[in-house]
Amino acid sequence: MDSTGVRNSFKKHFAAEGDLYFSPGRINLIGEHTDYNGGFVLPGAIDKGILAEIKTNGQNKIRAYSVDYDEYSEFGLNEENKPSQSWACYLFGVAREIIKRGHKIGGFDTVFAGDVPLGAGLSSSAALESTFAFAINDIFGLGIDKFELAKIGQATEHNYCGVKCGIMDQFASLFGKEGHLIRLDCRSLEYEYVPFQPKGYKMVLIDSVVKHELASSAYNRRRESCEAVVAAIQKRHPNVSLLRDADLKMLDEVKTEISAEDYMRAEYVIEEIQRLLDACEALKKGDYKTVGEKMYGTHHGMSKLYEVSCEELDYLNDVAAACGVIGSRVMGGGFGGCTINLVPEEKYDTFIETAVKGFASKFGKEPKVYPVAISNGTRKL
Ligand code: ADP
Ligand code: MG
Repeated sequence: MDSTGVRNSFKKHFAAEGDLYFSPGRINLIGEHTDYNGGFVLPGAIDKGILAEIKTNGQNKIRAYSVDYDEYSEFGLNEENKPSQSWACYLFGVAREIIKRGHKIGGFDTVFAGDVPLGAGLSSSAALESTFAFAINDIFGLGIDKFELAKIGQATEHNYCGVKCGIMDQFASLFGKEGHLIRLDCRSLEYEYVPFQPKGYKMVLIDSVVKHELASSAYNRRRESCEAVVAAIQKRHPNVSLLRDADLKMLDEVKTEISAEDYMRAEYVIEEIQRLLDACEALKKGDYKTVGEKMYGTHHGMSKLYEVSCEELDYLNDVAAACGVIGSRVMGGGFGGCTINLVPEEKYDTFIETAVKGFASKFGKEPKVYPVAISNGTRKL
């Protein structure tokens, strides 16, 4: 991201110069609905993010200007000072969570802008939290480690933005590394960098611009299905506490004790955890064809077994297959959002044109196209 706009705006608002920090959004290559089942996810930081200039102001307040919203917000550091603008609540929340952990911070001035599309599933909110958690830690010399910074971002979502998210987004934003994805164990929070250098391929997201209104109740029902299956398996295998611990043989043993629907849900999760592990092995060998097949496998499972896809996403997945895209699937929880696609370079233009035109004529609206590359995590510039 070019810093000129942020720099000029900071000078205009505060007649000074501060330090620059950048934090990226993220993709998740494979591993969906695995987090709350104790499985793995495989995110990576992208080349789009939030850029902030920041400088201590010697006062006990934050003065912030959002370039993208063209809005200014000024608020104190105490719990009762929560600002009215929702974008400012992310900054306030991060500052509060740091203070709640016993650190002493002062006020600061900031101007920030971003190029992560909002609400598209690329986690612009985690980019925002990670930028400010990292920057505040740095300018006040607090010595908080990156893992704790990720937790501060997650706690901000929970306590100040009303989103009960896991830790993947903030983790990926802070720990991202060029040429690598991060295999994160959602149970132990152990992680491993897995090489990702798909030479000859481009990664692109196609945004269906669908937002499903029933997504959160459907999500809760999926979780209940997973819990019901674990409870049934536990009667024979007491050490199974999450679907992560189960295999397809155990699932078959309880087939007559659970509903057909619960069976399908658990089948998807157990297979998805294995697909992710297989994809990681393939990545270590540079075998992108197998990685791509696993991505299609995920889409199929999410569509037919977990039933969290929709007509628009299935259409985008079909077009990808027809255009020779080696891997494609719905990314995120489902019911809308983007597909993530691994596209041979020579097929890229045809794929984009076919997908956009076909989608527009079938659904009467244009999908959005976001090319992304795997890049480094949060940093001072
Ligand atoms: P996402 O999937 O992108 O994380 P969210 O709804 O969780 O979607 O977060 C989007 C919110 O984050 C926006 O409504 C806004 O409050 C804040 N935000 C993200 N990017 C920016 C930005 N560039 N400038 C100001 N606020 C931003
Ligand atoms: Mg978010």
